[in-house]
Amino acid sequence: MTRTLYDKIWESHLVDDDGSSSLIYVDRQLIHEVTSPQAFEGLRIKNRKPRRPEAHLAVADHNVPTTTSNRGHGTSGIKDQTSRIQVETLEANCREFGIRYFDLDDKKQGIVHIVGPEQGLTQPGMVIVCGDSHTSTHGAFGALAFGIGTSEVEHVLATQTLIQKRAKNFLVKVDGKLGNGVTAKDIILAIIGKIGTAGATGFVIEYAGTAIEALSMEGRMTICNMSIEAGAKAGLIAPDQKTYDYLHGRPLAPQKNDFEKAVKYWESLKSDSFAKYDKKIHLKAEEIAPHITWGTSPEDALPITEKVPSPSDFSDKGKQEAVKRSLEYMGLEAGQTLTSIQIDKVFIGSCTNGRIEDFREAAKMVKGKKIAGNVKLALIVPGSGLVKEQAEKEGLDKIFTAAGFEWREPGCSMCLAMNADKLEFGERCASTSNRNFEGRQGRGGRTHLMSPAMAAAAAIAGRLVDVRNP
Ligand code: SF4
Repeated sequence: MTRTLYDKIWESHLVDDDGSSSLIYVDRQLIHEVTSPQAFEGLRIKNRKPRRPEAHLAVADHNVPTTTSNRGHGTSGIKDQTSRIQVETLEANCREFGIRYFDLDDKKQGIVHIVGPEQGLTQPGMVIVCGDSHTSTHGAFGALAFGIGTSEVEHVLATQTLIQKRAKNFLVKVDGKLGNGVTAKDIILAIIGKIGTAGATGFVIEYAGTAIEALSMEGRMTICNMSIEAGAKAGLIAPDQKTYDYLHGRPLAPQKNDFEKAVKYWESLKSDSFAKYDKKIHLKAEEIAPHITWGTSPEDALPITEKVPSPSDFSDKGKQEAVKRSLEYMGLEAGQTLTSIQIDKVFIGSCTNGRIEDFREAAKMVKGKKIAGNVKLALIVPGSGLVKEQAEKEGLDKIFTAAGFEWREPGCSMCLAMNADKLEFGERCASTSNRNFEGRQGRGGRTHLMSPAMAAAAAIAGRLVDVRNP
């Protein structure tokens, strides 16, 4: 029997199966302030303890302020009372239940999906969960990683297991060489644009092919991060030498001889040559242009060289209605060129694109230039304190601030409207985050998703531009 990488991880974690659902073992859980309070409360009420406290890592990210003046004093800098209570509750719960926690003043703090890999907690072959949909990010290491609900967070804390249904296998192969200015973000936007937001529902996607293998670990994380936007349970990339090199020496990765032993096991984590997939698609890297989204769904993705579509471009009645509503919400005219869209704000950060490589790419675009006069605010928000430290060592912060960007403290920031960084009603943002839903970045806010280089180029031009010819 040939097996896929997903089959292998699933079968090695199967505890029990009653024919309709399965109980699987969970190696690691990441915890943040939004989806954990009820889970800890549930443990308390039922007088239960975490089964393996050392298998969890907690960090506050969604609610934290990113302005330097509001950081460096623990939670006292969080002005919004609800947000402050959530973060303080997480701190107290972690203390009470013995869960490792990086507080707001710790440079290891950051967005949960950036911190996990950075610390070496994310490892090939593991099952990793978190009460957050973008847990799929960790699949970049060949881990089966997916988001779970609050009651499941409690279940994992108490039992280190989870009831699940087995997913189907979807192979997305991208071969060839990416053109200049085309990045991992463009690959995943092109994939979602092609298969739609329900295209991978019920599946785990395995990304493979020479263009995927050529990506850095950062690029692979960007791809896997957005698997959920295509409806997938998770996204996976087989581990290779780049994965082992990334993990080597990280504090929570296996150390010394254990690392060599782990690599031997990790080398077995590949789909068999003739493994059977339930669905397959193939993309040629050379045909992928820099992409942006124009509408209010991640599937509304198009090459930047295109025009805003019209409802009549689609045969499906439901899609026609969705396009009509998207155009109204986004304040766009069918047929206008994407490069004619003016922007008000720029956000470079998030668990999709808040890593060091993202800032290096963005810095190349802005070095020696100034942001356009119509851009009211351009934020650069590192995904973690360690990313911030590295960027500052390389002088990237100076490049950004000289161009007029604000250099912030780590957190989810303007990825979602849950902290002080928000769009005002009707404002339009070039954003490197992962969701462009109505109101995602603030009530009435209009989001265009794109790569860090594209967002940086947009900040300079004051409108959406083709990064290859800004
Ligand atoms: S950066 Fe955005 S998508 Fe990622 S964890 Fe934070 S809020 Fe969720």
